[in-house]
Amino acid sequence: MSKYQRAKKKKTGWIWFFCLLLLLVGSGVAVFYLKPEWVQSLAFWEQKTVQTAPKKVEKKKQEKKEEKLKTDLPQVSTKDWNLVLVNRDNKLPELNPQLTDVEEIKVDSRIAEQTRQFLAAARALAPEESLISGYRSVAEQTELYNERVAQLEATGLPHEEAEKQVQTQVQVPGASEHQTGLAIDMSLPSGQSEELAKQLVALAPQFGFVLRYPEGKNAITGVDYENWHFRYVGVENAQYMAKHQLVLEEYIQKLKEAGL
Ligand SMILES: [Zn+2]
Repeated sequence: MSKYQRAKKKKTGWIWFFCLLLLLVGSGVAVFYLKPEWVQSLAFWEQKTVQTAPKKVEKKKQEKKEEKLKTDLPQVSTKDWNLVLVNRDNKLPELNPQLTDVEEIKVDSRIAEQTRQFLAAARALAPEESLISGYRSVAEQTELYNERVAQLEATGLPHEEAEKQVQTQVQVPGASEHQTGLAIDMSLPSGQSEELAKQLVALAPQFGFVLRYPEGKNAITGVDYENWHFRYVGVENAQYMAKHQLVLEEYIQKLKEAGL
């Protein structure tokens, strides 16, 4: 072997050595970033890395969960007319919606057809099911509220106490959902049976309605269980709310969190 050949062989050896070294370091870095859980599983790894690696995995899992929640939500807006929120914390002035009569009960014209269809479906289960109430202006609500307070005062109850009692059944003026024209009270003349109410709750979403004040949610809605008060929110929203057992307050909060 000539002197030149020996030098060439030595140089080639060094190149191979560096290539191998580069490959090893490269794989190490790749594993560290792409599969931190593998690094974590190495028993000899420093305590510091073992602590930070699971956090990264946890964060990724959380992000994935949030992403799923976002995409799972209907792509609607909290500003949509059918998602208007009225309750004690969100009092509204007169809304003056355009109205249509459904069997002498006034509702927002945009939900007249769905109200008719929901009522027809309810009558297939109970022929006497009827609309009891629909649109009620703030002025009418004020009248109703004052009337009830006066009735209780007449029995000798102090004004403040009378108001307190009335508020368990009648919304204070401005806080009643009936002023939107998107709420209906639907019941049998003798009162809604619990069995029928359950069937109606299951039927409601396909017509865009939800039971607005379900059992066990009064801490959120501020209203006790009412098995006759249905609210129109649109089919897509109603189906999502029913599936996830959300009341309007919770649903709107979720939409807001998702930036919708
Ligand atoms: Zn009602």
